[in-house]
Amino acid sequence: MAKNAKKSSGPKPERLSFPDDETRFDWLPMLLDAYYIADKGVHDGIKLRLNQGQKLACAKGCSTCCSTHITIPVYPLELSGIYWYTMEKTENDRRKALKEQLSNFTENDPCPFLIKGICGIHPMRPLACRHFNVFHKPCDENEDPYFTRRNDVLTPIKKYKEKALAAMLPFHKITQRSEKIKAMKTGLIHTYAKNLQEVEWVKLAERLYITAS
Ligand code: SF4
Ligand code: SF4
Repeated sequence: MAKNAKKSSGPKPERLSFPDDETRFDWLPMLLDAYYIADKGVHDGIKLRLNQGQKLACAKGCSTCCSTHITIPVYPLELSGIYWYTMEKTENDRRKALKEQLSNFTENDPCPFLIKGICGIHPMRPLACRHFNVFHKPCDENEDPYFTRRNDVLTPIKKYKEKALAAMLPFHKITQRSEKIKAMKTGLIHTYAKNLQEVEWVKLAERLYITAS
């Protein structure tokens, strides 16, 4: 998914930090923890493959995947993050572009957060986007390498992926260890996900405040 800067596995990921907002919103630390775990897993997964001599194809400005993927799961906690980030953390010009795309978005369009080949919500891009990395060569136009060359697609390291998903469970009032284990085993967490293409983004567009320039 649209990468803002990546050629190697890069420096070790750091947990994103928004101290004031994390005080305002009790769900935000949960989301940032989940993304931190996922980012560490992706970093380690890429490193393993680079050590095998493989070359990461994803790079800044490469974004075909954001146009071709039509089933991107997005979990409720992630939706909160996307709403918050888009409404409060984007600059006016970017918010204006996002408002327009979100207002006019229809299901088969490229992802409405893609602005000039760059992810407009990069720090808050969903887990699915964070996990999607491709090796050897960039995706061709309209290619989904998951189907054309599955071996070139990073398989997220299971323990990180599951830990990241489990970190989101308290958002659904699932806090006990036994409940969490059950929710992960039964796949309950996945039943909460929506398809990004099917979200009514116009509702977010309506909430975006644009200042006159
Ligand atoms: S190589 Fe494919 S998956 Fe990677 S950023 Fe480019 S289009 Fe997306
Ligand atoms: S949120 Fe959209 S633009 Fe951003 S990486 Fe994911 S698919 Fe691409």
